[in-house]
Amino acid sequence: MAKGYGIFSGGLDSILAAALLQEQGRELVLLTFSTPFFGPERALVSARALGLRARVVDLTAPHMEMLQQPRHGYGRFMNPCIDCHALMFRRAGEIMAAEGGDFLFSGEVLGQRPKSQNRRALDIVAHESGYADFILRPLSARVLPPTRTEELGLVDRDRLQGFSGRTRKPQMELAARYGIKDYPSPAGGCLLTDPIFSRRLKELAGQGPLLDPRDVELLKWGRHFRLPDGLKAIVGRKKAENEALEGLFRPGDVMFKVASAPGPTVLIPAGEPEDPGLAASMTVSYSDAPDGEPAAVRVIGALGERTVAARGLPKKDFAHFMI
Ligand code: SF4
Repeated sequence: MAKGYGIFSGGLDSILAAALLQEQGRELVLLTFSTPFFGPERALVSARALGLRARVVDLTAPHMEMLQQPRHGYGRFMNPCIDCHALMFRRAGEIMAAEGGDFLFSGEVLGQRPKSQNRRALDIVAHESGYADFILRPLSARVLPPTRTEELGLVDRDRLQGFSGRTRKPQMELAARYGIKDYPSPAGGCLLTDPIFSRRLKELAGQGPLLDPRDVELLKWGRHFRLPDGLKAIVGRKKAENEALEGLFRPGDVMFKVASAPGPTVLIPAGEPEDPGLAASMTVSYSDAPDGEPAAVRVIGALGERTVAARGLPKKDFAHFMI
């Protein structure tokens, strides 16, 4: 029996692509990718609904490398969708080849996304994956040239779909036909399409090569400031963010906390500020310490723990440092 390896995000299109092949009795392996920008959660849930299990493949290192200079550029935000799809197909192709699979598939729909799923983009993705001959797009197969998989009779082209364009109505109808009711909305799921995250990521990329997944993880939490000495200060906005920042602390970082009142955790990643006064003031400003009075601030870093006194400043004084 032909065995297909699917790029599976868990969104409706990928569910339907898998369901069409399942209907033809094909053996399917669903691959879902994990990076600091998107995770496997919804794919795992959607796969279960199909009676399948999605296999999680960590794509962090090659994805971060690609993201520094994607050959086909970014979408509206920091989303390099064409290069990202090509990378996913390349990795899926390597797994398929190693495990003796027959074809690759995805839920891509011709014309669904004007920039990354037009005909030229689909061809680029296929070509750059290195596995062009193996790629099948079940939802748009009948409006695309027949693939090797169809020509070999590994799947029945007549029982695939010919969807194209931005409308999602055919997908809704097909979902209804399969009794699929529970699926995530098409948007969401990838931080590279989030405007705030993208702005922070762009700023970080401007400081030097994006090599450390921890630096990217930090972008998800708190308010971010670039201080005059070039270091970054991250100010937790609530308990969960303070805990996340504390969990991401590692040797070489410096952490600030007001000793005598509830307040934020402030993290300076990878560096000791020449003058801790500004970060200490920031820590007091965002805390519940009384206005205008000096507060004791704990500074935890490479030199151990010490306490400095600092006064809060109006928050507008930090506004121009904010990323
Ligand atoms: S939205 Fe994100 S996960 Fe999806 S193709 Fe674009 S970069 Fe990749």
